[in-house]
Amino acid sequence: MDYEPVIGLEVHVQLKTSSKMFCGCTTEFGGSPNSHTCPVCLGFPGVLPVLNKKALLLAVRAALAVGCRISGEVKFHRKNYFYPDLPKDYQISQYDEPLSENGKIEIMSGGTAKTIRVKRVHMEEDAGKLIHEEGENSSLVDFNRSGMPLLEIVSEPDINSPDEAYQYLTNLKLLLKYLDVSDCDMEKGSLRCDANISLRPKGDKGLGTKAEVKNMNSFKGVKAALEFEIGRQSGLLDSGERIVQETRLWDPEKNITISMRSKEEAHDYRYFPEPDLVPFALDGNVAKAQKASLPELPKARKERFMNLLGLPDYDAEVLTQEKENADYFEECLKNYDKPKTVSNWMMGDISAYLNSRAMSITAIKMKPASLAGLLKEIDSGKISGKMAKEIIPEMCDTGKEASVIISEKGLSQISDVSELEKFADEAIAENSKTVEDFMKGKDSALMFLVGQVMKKTRGKANPAMVNEVLRKRLAGKK
Ligand SMILES: [Zn+2]
Repeated sequence: MDYEPVIGLEVHVQLKTSSKMFCGCTTEFGGSPNSHTCPVCLGFPGVLPVLNKKALLLAVRAALAVGCRISGEVKFHRKNYFYPDLPKDYQISQYDEPLSENGKIEIMSGGTAKTIRVKRVHMEEDAGKLIHEEGENSSLVDFNRSGMPLLEIVSEPDINSPDEAYQYLTNLKLLLKYLDVSDCDMEKGSLRCDANISLRPKGDKGLGTKAEVKNMNSFKGVKAALEFEIGRQSGLLDSGERIVQETRLWDPEKNITISMRSKEEAHDYRYFPEPDLVPFALDGNVAKAQKASLPELPKARKERFMNLLGLPDYDAEVLTQEKENADYFEECLKNYDKPKTVSNWMMGDISAYLNSRAMSITAIKMKPASLAGLLKEIDSGKISGKMAKEIIPEMCDTGKEASVIISEKGLSQISDVSELEKFADEAIAENSKTVEDFMKGKDSALMFLVGQVMKKTRGKANPAMVNEVLRKRLAGKK
């Protein structure tokens, strides 16, 4: 039978604060185990949590950027469960009144725009981390992560393919990075994603029994896990079996999901209002101020690059896919006002340099103003585009200005007419047959002569000027 996947994603991102959600401990990554802890995040009896204001502001900011309505009240709940990495036996989270609801994220699906609704965006604290060393029959626990501020972004089950899930995650991450609310570094665990997936016969409106998949550590992993689940669930349904509501773990080595436990229902957690954090009204001005300070978001920036700077759709899309690249591009334009030229060099030679070294643009030593300087050297005819290609890697490596490398390497192009005339005359004298062909109207013969002059100057002549000089000299012979 033909099935349609119904997918909802829960994304956890760590908010970019310097201290934890309810205590003053540092949020710095790493540190020796259990060194970034205090009685509050270790869950000692009698300690009192205090909400981190910055975490609240960043959460409001992110919620606004995905178009959510901000709640007028901030209210926390205890989510009760036992786990060795949770010393309090409960996690402070939000339940019936999340910080915000009803947002949306736009994706492209099969060439058309599609809206994925965001059900809610709420705040919660992270748990510690269990370390299971191979070959040991005991486990270790590190509470450095305990109490880190998290934002949970829950989508409605509007996603219908692994590809759409991948797009949603990519767009969400891009947005969060533009907002500077999180590092979104999956390797460091500052962005995590769980997926709920069920299948239904195509055309049906009802929902099938879902499985929750955890433990994906990359967007590609999410896509692969969903693809695996579609295969597994459709196999079960085809053979008339029942899907069990459960939590499954993705095994990236074997490319399969494994049953972990039956899925809890909300009532299993015995949520109740956190008595140590009284609900408080959120001043409408807080949201207003955050809204006013939102930066230009990726979609708007792309549109501006197209409409005001005249970039083609493709260039605008590529340049805005990383905030840093778009920033670099605009910085360069401050000193060099030809957007398409800058875009070409960034998507060409600079991108090739970055890819070959797996670097991001922020790591290269060539400043945007230096790239502008290089492009001006090409425009003035001092160097050729080919020479610029040779210079770029050195500029990226060393941060030297183009003009310095040009003079160090003696690279400058010969643009002096009288010097070029000398070489042109030599080429004409040495190639009488070609000259004759040209005189008879064979225009392509000129290209051969241009090549000869370029050879004589060891590539240093300005080809456009050589062309012009040769034409003038030959016209004189007619
Ligand atoms: Zn602490």
